[in-house]
Amino acid sequence: MEIIAFSKAMYSTWIYYSPDRVLFDCGEGISTMLTNKLFAVKKIFLTHSHADHISGLWGFLNTRSSAMGERDKPLEIYYHKDAQMIKDYLNFIIGTGSRLKYDLSFHEIDVGEKIVLKSGKMNRYIVPFETDHMINEVTLGFQINETRKRLKGKYQSLDQTEIRKMIKEMGRDQLTEEYTHSLLTMSGDGNVIADEYFQNTSTLLHECTFLDSDDRRGDKHTEIGELLEKVKRFKPKKLIIYHISGRYLPNLKERMREIGKKLKQEGIDFSYVNPSKICRF
Ligand SMILES: [Zn+2]
Ligand SMILES: [Zn+2]
Repeated sequence: MEIIAFSKAMYSTWIYYSPDRVLFDCGEGISTMLTNKLFAVKKIFLTHSHADHISGLWGFLNTRSSAMGERDKPLEIYYHKDAQMIKDYLNFIIGTGSRLKYDLSFHEIDVGEKIVLKSGKMNRYIVPFETDHMINEVTLGFQINETRKRLKGKYQSLDQTEIRKMIKEMGRDQLTEEYTHSLLTMSGDGNVIADEYFQNTSTLLHECTFLDSDDRRGDKHTEIGELLEKVKRFKPKKLIIYHISGRYLPNLKERMREIGKKLKQEGIDFSYVNPSKICRF
């Protein structure tokens, strides 16, 4: 289990990625549902200021300070530098005067900035990117990237003995090159994300509010047909859709099974965040 999520369009969305103890968004009900796992969260990344993505933050920050658990672990919150409504909301929370037992820090970030999660041999970081969702605010999606090393193209056909011999002669650095691998891409809210964020990603978490194009009325949200077109082109290993509208609940299982079958033929593993319950992947 790496991901715990709840997401129902217009109600509440939050996604916890446990390998890096990162929480994306903080919709209503999170404290009650995440229970003592909320003490594990180190960083919260907010995609935008819509209430269904931030309304659980007030409760989360206070519960993490008052419930039974490791209350003294610091917590960091990241959001776009121009997201004024998020700033106003955070000021309100701080202004309520509740004294938190841990260090809480706010970080204003910009599109393309690298936020380091782990440094060392395998440099891992988060990069925010812009999504097409609101007109009066820069809205974000996030990628968790890792810098990895691989053999340069011209050496990839050599066998192990030859490679070892060449490493001895030339040194490892001469034979290898660095590349960026995306472990996770999280789309935030909005239309289908740009092509470049589909490339080289293992797990793609994409919003998918609409399963029928007729239901769409000028909203800046994703419809399944458009998303699947790109997914089939770029073939992430795994696709998880979330932010599904509750209107599809009556026959959701059957519809998701159909999509899963088709994607399996393309070699893509498919899952969805059921809008009626907390889900684990
Ligand atoms: Zn939303
Ligand atoms: Zn939204």
